[in-house]
Amino acid sequence: MAHIGLRHVILDRDGVLNCEAEGGRYVRDPAEFRWLPGALEGLAILRRAGLHLSVVTNQSGVGRGLMSLEQLAAVHARMQAEASAYGGALDAVLFCPHAPQDRCACRKPAPGLIQAAIARSGIAAAESLVVGDDRRDLEAAWRAGVAAALVRTGKGRQTEALIGNAGVPAYDDLPQLAHTIVAGR
Ligand SMILES: [Mg+2]
Ligand SMILES: [Zn+2]
Repeated sequence: MAHIGLRHVILDRDGVLNCEAEGGRYVRDPAEFRWLPGALEGLAILRRAGLHLSVVTNQSGVGRGLMSLEQLAAVHARMQAEASAYGGALDAVLFCPHAPQDRCACRKPAPGLIQAAIARSGIAAAESLVVGDDRRDLEAAWRAGVAAALVRTGKGRQTEALIGNAGVPAYDDLPQLAHTIVAGR
């Protein structure tokens, strides 16, 4: 899979960058944020290749009253600091704080977060790639008119089995994706 002209990678968070909290819980504290193996290196590879990096993440724990915006901000501050220290600084971290019943336009599979990441970056959708582990990420990308790739971390293997051969390229994890797309540019 070639990604000619790729300039912007839009990453899901949980299951792509960090381990999902157990039992469907939320990462509510910076101490609970655990990077997936190789994820920091993956970000650094993409960054060194000159790619713009955005993170788009559903965090309905806020809307469900299980986590405050301050807690989420603290988690993201740690994530950004560690990514920067590793050479993989994130240009934007966008989140949806809403609960499903809020029927917002940003909670994936709605395309709002991805559209916002595109608008903020100033980089065309055609030069962007969404990376996710969940079917919702792929659907949001499709609705936003952005190409998507799957990683087999988090819910990725489950998602791959679910979608079958839908023409979505799949990689074992973020570092493998990063190596492959950087080599193919
Ligand atoms: Mg995910
Ligand atoms: Zn939302």
